[in-house]
Amino acid sequence: MKTDDRKINFNAGPGALPDVVIRRAQEAVAAYGRTGMSILELPHRSKEFIDIVDEAKARVLAFCGLDSDYEVMWMQGGGRQQFALLPMNFLPSDGRAGYLDSGHWSDEALGYAKFYGNVDIVASSADCGYTRLPQLPDLHGKDWRYLHYTTNNTIFGTQWHNIPGTDVPLTADMSSDIFCCERDYTKYDLFYAAAQKNLGIAGIALVVAKKSFLARCMRSLPPMFDYRAHAAENSVLNTANVFGIYTALLMLRWTEEEGLQNIFERNRRKAELVYNALDANPNFQPTVTVPAHRSLMNVCFKAKSPEAEQRLYALCDAAGIIGIKGHRSAG
Ligand code: PMP
Repeated sequence: MKTDDRKINFNAGPGALPDVVIRRAQEAVAAYGRTGMSILELPHRSKEFIDIVDEAKARVLAFCGLDSDYEVMWMQGGGRQQFALLPMNFLPSDGRAGYLDSGHWSDEALGYAKFYGNVDIVASSADCGYTRLPQLPDLHGKDWRYLHYTTNNTIFGTQWHNIPGTDVPLTADMSSDIFCCERDYTKYDLFYAAAQKNLGIAGIALVVAKKSFLARCMRSLPPMFDYRAHAAENSVLNTANVFGIYTALLMLRWTEEEGLQNIFERNRRKAELVYNALDANPNFQPTVTVPAHRSLMNVCFKAKSPEAEQRLYALCDAAGIIGIKGHRSAG
């Protein structure tokens, strides 16, 4: 399909990619640089691919304002694999970890951690159907190996706009809002993002970890599940997802071209426009009850009547808008 045949895609993930990224990816599929090969054929140990990994890594560190105290890893398996790898590497069976439960994915992440050690659900907004963020207790002086939270709750449309303060290592799932805005990444010991929303296509995840935190890994693990092995092998421990990582690099270049601050300002203005329209419209209702908790990434709302819902779908269809229906678990 030509890029100008594309509709306006509102799906959360896989998310819409900028036209220019799709065009550049298409060019690389036809032939990558002067290699005489498609990017789909490029060997994962070739110099060209190592250059892709290194540039992507350098761009991530630059965006995050991080230095060589941090490792950047491109890993396979998406978001859920990180739900498992985090406790597998850092939570011993007699240890404890703190988890904030602010939505479906936070809940799923903490469920994975229970396979490995003890989980303290520090705060939860499950009882109100995740229509707001939970209130935080004091997060200091705990015996947790780490604290985990989800920066943006994709399905329920809430987003943490402030970073929780704690004196234990802070870890985060940023799958649905990484690089949506500037953020103080030095506060985190480890964060990860499945790529298919803001960073490219499905099949890979970005993981950034402080080297001093990686040194705390306490299990003997097969290399494929050991963060230290991935860091030591520069993300090519096994046959890498070359096209996925290249697409992430194209997204990082595009983010640089647009400017992170401009992207944030655009997201803020778009969200404001949509929330204001919803607040003023008697047929619809934003689902997040506390405006300060609303996501800049996923604006979730419900129609007040089946007629309004059907009319909205018809109007979207006519306007070439797709992916407007919510997640199956939220409606
Ligand atoms: N975390 C968040 C915040 C998500 O929105 C999702 C949904 N894709 C996941 C994790 C799960 O990612 P994956 O499907 O790659 O396992």
